[in-house]
Order: sequence, then structure tokens, then C-alpha cells
Amino acid sequence: MFVLRGLDGKIVTSTEWGKEEKEEQYETYEQAQHALQEIEKSLPKGMFRIVALDCERCGGNNDVTVFHVNDEPKAFCQNCRVDLFARKNPVGRPSVGITKKVSLTLPENEWTWFEEKANGNRSQFLRHLVWEAQSPENEWNNYACLGYAIAGAKKLGYDEEKIQELVRAIYGEFDWKSVPVAEKIYTESDY
Ligand SMILES: [Zn+2]
Repeated sequence: MFVLRGLDGKIVTSTEWGKEEKEEQYETYEQAQHALQEIEKSLPKGMFRIVALDCERCGGNNDVTVFHVNDEPKAFCQNCRVDLFARKNPVGRPSVGITKKVSLTLPENEWTWFEEKANGNRSQFLRHLVWEAQSPENEWNNYACLGYAIAGAKKLGYDEEKIQELVRAIYGEFDWKSVPVAEKIYTESDY
């Protein structure tokens, strides 16, 4: 059922003879549209709008709104709207979560890098970056590692020259061994 409501809450009442005055209801959106067109012949446009009373899918009346899908008016309640749009996701793919729009400004060369890495799927790449930033491996920090080495060497009483040699040797290895490889060296060692 549809009704016409004024912006100020005004209702359109039935004027049929012999019937008590009540709000005029329309079976279909099209009927409501016709009635609205009649009203707008004598009143300025936009003073009344079409309001859906009940959800055409479940009959419920929780926050029913009219929206258009492929130019076809749909009056759906909040639950049915959620259902409808949830089904737009490809079947079998788990929901990714809450979608928020982001506007990102980067120099052109960084966009070039970004697009190359994203390989046609920007949001997937951004999601990957967020996950990666949260993974423990990325708490890794070369300077922190050197700090641990120096602290350990001092505890053992290494002299300055030895500590410097150690720091340079470790520093040199940063370029040649990835963090997972270094981790493997340690976990597979006897130390
Ligand atoms: Zn519904």
C-alpha cells in the first residue's frame, strides 16, 4: 500500500461520498504516481511524495522506503533491503566486511607503482596492505634488531671494536636475507 504525504506531514484524504474521511491508499506505486500527478496539477511540485506503508516482500513496516531497481519501483523494509543487497555479492564468496570509501592522493609515480601492484583490484591490494601492516613480521625493524645485538654484546663484555664488527656484519646481512630466512636460520640453529 502507498499513500501520499506532504512534507509537513499533511495527508491526502478520501473524498468519496458517504465514507468517513480517511487517508487515501493506493494499491500500487503506479496508482500513487497517478494521484500525485493529479495533485501536482493544482499544487506546486514536491509538496507531496509517495510513501510506502508496507514492504512488498514481507509485508513488514520497519522503515519501508521506495527505491528503483532498473527503473522499477520497489518498496522494501530495512531487513529486505539488506537481504536484497547482500545477494548482490557473488555466491560462495565470504563477506569482506564494512565498506567505506577512501580518497587517496599520491604523486603520479606512486600511483604507477600502486596500480602495478594492485593489478586491477585496488581494494584487494589495500586490504592486503592493511593486513600486512598488522602482521607481527612487520613489527620487524632493522634498527631494533641492531639494538638487541649491541645490548647482548655489551652484556657479554665485547669491546667497542668487536661490537662495531658485529653491527656491520649484521647490517650487511639485512640486504641479503629476508626476515623469514633469518628467522629460519635461528630456529634451525643449535643456539
Ligand atoms: Zn520486508
